[in-house]
Parts: sequence; C-alpha cells; structure tokens
Amino acid sequence: MSMDYYNLKYGLFADAPDLVDTLPALGKLKKAYPKYIKRAEEAQCLARKFAREELLPKVLEIDTKCSKDPKYMDWELWRKANDARFNISPIPKKMGGLGWSALDNAVLVEELSSVCIASAANITFNTFGLLGALVECRTGTVLKIIKMMVDAQEKGKPLFWSWAITEPGAGTDVEDGEAMATMRPSSNARKVPGGYILNGTKCFITNGSIADYVIATIPLDTSNPRESMATFFVSTDSTGFSVGRVERKCGQKASQTAELFFNDLFVPEENLWEPPGRGLRHTREILSITRGYVGLCGSAIAGGALQRCIQFANRKKIKNHRLIEEEWVQFAISDMLKDIMVVRAACYNFALAMDTYHVWSLFDKIPVKASLAVFPEKFILGESVLELARNRMIDWAGNKYKGSIVTDDLVEKFVKEGSALKVAGTDLAMKVSARVLDVVGLEGMSYQYGIEKYFRDAKVTQIYEGSNQANRIDLFNNTIGEMI
Ligand SMILES: Cc1cc2nc3c(=O)[nH]c(=O)nc-3n(C[C@H](O)[C@H](O)[C@H](O)COP(=O)(O)OP(=O)(O)OC[C@H]3O[C@@H](n4cnc5c(N)ncnc54)[C@H](O)[C@@H]3O)c2cc1C
Repeated sequence: MSMDYYNLKYGLFADAPDLVDTLPALGKLKKAYPKYIKRAEEAQCLARKFAREELLPKVLEIDTKCSKDPKYMDWELWRKANDARFNISPIPKKMGGLGWSALDNAVLVEELSSVCIASAANITFNTFGLLGALVECRTGTVLKIIKMMVDAQEKGKPLFWSWAITEPGAGTDVEDGEAMATMRPSSNARKVPGGYILNGTKCFITNGSIADYVIATIPLDTSNPRESMATFFVSTDSTGFSVGRVERKCGQKASQTAELFFNDLFVPEENLWEPPGRGLRHTREILSITRGYVGLCGSAIAGGALQRCIQFANRKKIKNHRLIEEEWVQFAISDMLKDIMVVRAACYNFALAMDTYHVWSLFDKIPVKASLAVFPEKFILGESVLELARNRMIDWAGNKYKGSIVTDDLVEKFVKEGSALKVAGTDLAMKVSARVLDVVGLEGMSYQYGIEKYFRDAKVTQIYEGSNQANRIDLFNNTIGEMI
C-alpha cells in the first residue's frame, strides 16, 4: 500500500473538504448558517490545493535559498497567492476581496502553515495589517488602506506591512503593562509643528525589509513609556527610514525578520494612529487577535510533521514488516494525533469567537452592511466615498461604534484565550516535531526530506508573539491573578 501526500483519505489529512468531518461541532452551525460553513469549506479546498500544488514542491528550494541569502523572496509564489487574492482575503467581495471571515482565514492559515509556516506568513500577514487599521478604526483610514490593498492586488504589486514593537533590549516589556512601566526604551518620539519626529531602532520585525508601511509603537517620554507610548503609521519611503540586518534564523527562513532604523523621521499628525498612552492598548488589541492564530499555526506544524511521520512509517520496512505495524509507533501516532485534535478544535473555537465578538464581527454589523449595500460596486472605493469617510463626524462615529464593540474587557478576554492557545499550539508543534524525528530516525535528520524543517520552524513560534513564558504570565494575570 502506498501513501503519499496526495492520497491520504482520512480525518485531518483527507483530500476532500473535511472541515465539518474533523470538527463535528461545526455541523450544528452548518445547519443554522449554511453559507458561513460552505464558504469555509470552499476556502479549505482552495487553500489546500494551493498549499499542495504551488507551495509544497518549492518549500525546500526556498528554504535553501533563504539560508544563503536571508533577503531572498520567491516572488513567483507570492504572485500566485496574490492572483488568488489570499493576501486581501478579509476585504468584502464588493470592494474586491474574498469577503473571508475569521473562520475562513483560520482555514487558510492552517492549510499553508501545515506545509510551510514562513511562506504562510508572507501570504497572510497583510490580513493582520488590515486588522491593524480596523483596530485603529477611523473610517477614512480604513477605507484608504483597503483601497491601497485592492489597487496593489489588481496591479500584481506587492504591498507589505510590518508591526514594529520589539526593540533591542525590550521584547516582552513592550507587550506587557507592568514590564513596560519600568522599561527604558531606546526609541522615542518628539512633538513638532504638524507632526512628530521619530528616532530609534526596532529589531526582529517581520517583513520589515520589504514593508511599504510600518506600524510602530514608540513613547514620547522614555522615562514614562507606559503613559506615553503612541502608535505611528510610517511610510518606509520617508526620509530617515532605513533597514539594517535581516536576521539569519534557525527556522522560518522564508519570512524575513529585520532591524529598522528611524533617524529624525518626520511623521505627519494624521499618521498618529494612537495617541500617547494608547500604544499599549493598540498592541494588546493586535495580540488579542493574532495569538490564537499563532496557536493554530503551531497545531498546523504539528499536523504537517505527523503527516510526514505516518508516510514514513508506512513505507519503512523493519525486520519483515512496516514500521507502522509496530505497536509503539501506533501509540506514538495516536498520542500526537490526540493532542493535535484537541488544540486544533480549541483554535477553531477561537476563530468562531473572533467572528462573533471581535473586529471581524464588524463586517456583520448593520451600519457596515448597510454602507456596503448602499454604494454601487463601481463607486464604493471611489474618491467621493473616501471623502465622505474622512468626514470628521463619520470618522468619530465609526471610532466610537467600534470602541463600543471591541471594549478593553473584550480585548483582555481574547488576550487570555489567545495566550492559552499560543502556548498550547506552539509547545505542541515543538513536542510533535521532536517526537516525529524520534520515530523517523536517520531520514528525519536529513535536510532533503524536509522533516527536520518542521522542528526548526516550530522553535521560532515559541518565541514570537510574546515568548511562551510571557504568554503564561498573561494567562495567569488575566485569570487567577485577578483573584489573589
Ligand atoms: C521570527 C520572529 C519574528 C518576529 N516578528 C516581530 C514583529 O513582526 N514585530 C515585533 O515587534 N517583534 C517581532 N519579534 C520579536 C518577538 O515578539 C520577541 O522576540 C518576543 O516578544 C520576545 O522578546 P525578546 O526576544 O526581546 O525576549 P526578552 O523579552 O528579552 O526575554 C528574554 C527572556 O526573558 C523572559 N522574560 C522577559 N520578560 C519577562 C518578565 N516580565 N517576566 C518573566 N520573564 C520574562 C522571556 O520569557 C525570555 O525567556 C519577532 C521575533 C522572532 C523570533
């Protein structure tokens, strides 16, 4: 019996859409909201086809090229993803996107990450750039950004974002209120007529080397960062912006991580996204969205590694039988599968909650739906609508409306959930990818089979989006910590 990537027919690894099959609770939702689940199943078909046919054949070639040159980017792959509109997937269909929900995007992230998390990041990171605009939620800015993203997609032109929070000597500190109160950041902002002057260094910034825009959190008073941290929207063609080292990492090599320098960089007043004192809140809101997805990436890495393990054990002959017939191997596979099933289900739960309560729920609210319905497709991103969106009253009302839905309490609730999933998913990625190497043995050590890559990639997930230690602290503080 042969078993390769293309003919696994069961459970998590089936060719056919198996979303409801592997997450049975979605069956109930499929009855109540058939369109919602059908679209997620369609997203899974598209994403799986892309992952297997476009990404999988190139994974090792890209990893090898990036080992030699950390600035290497496979633009052909990126263009194919752009043609599929994966990089603008959450934008409503009427505006040119795919209109994909948090659930649909979870499916996309999972399918791509199970093959290569670094390439998945290159393709899906823009989604989180858009969410950054939604976090800030001024109608004029949101529409401007959507228009920029849609225009770039149509022209086949790359448009990348970065989130610059980490600084040399301050990673965890910039994500946590208590630690931030005592940290001494190296970056700083100064108020000048018409805007701000930024100085300092950010490091380990995903896509920093290819970004068109950087969303940077920088304090105005370095002796009081917590109360003065602000968020700026920085165009990378500004005078005073430069890119330093692109890191050579142990894993996730296809995703560039760079050092950024701000040298007397002027940012106009309108590009202050969050005023002094609100920078930490902005960061927490972003983390409240992304951490749960990183957890899902972890479970996807584990799933991809396990798939390779099963293929190997099925093919490998020991004594007079296949390795998979050994009871200890069957136990190991069951153990890994059991953990993946549990974490994966919890991460999908998170995506459903995201659609129900968090920024994604805005797409389902009457004011947004009504606005989308009123304007014809031709005019919806036209100058007159953009002008209207910039109107101070509309801008203010949009911001207030969003604030009434995504409250501070909701953000911390999702940080709590997301922290639990981030730790569970990424620790699982590490555990499973290591155990797979134990089962596979020598072949697993060899670069050419791509199995050890899961192990290298998994390690990186435990560190970013807040170290797993920092995530555990967040989880404790947001639960038990409130009682003691
Ligand atoms: C591949 C990659 C991509 C990244 N992308 C981005 C990005 O796009 N944007 C961005 O801003 N950052 C990014 N980062 C940075 C990342 O978010 C930080 O690495 C992470 O927050 C940890 O910070 P640090 O490395 O400075 O570790 P530190 O904060 O220096 O921590 C070092 C050690 O001390 C522990 N520690 C720190 N503070 C505490 C505390 N208060 N209590 C207990 N223990 C503590 C940590 O858990 C860790 O073990 C990226 C990192 C990597 C590796």
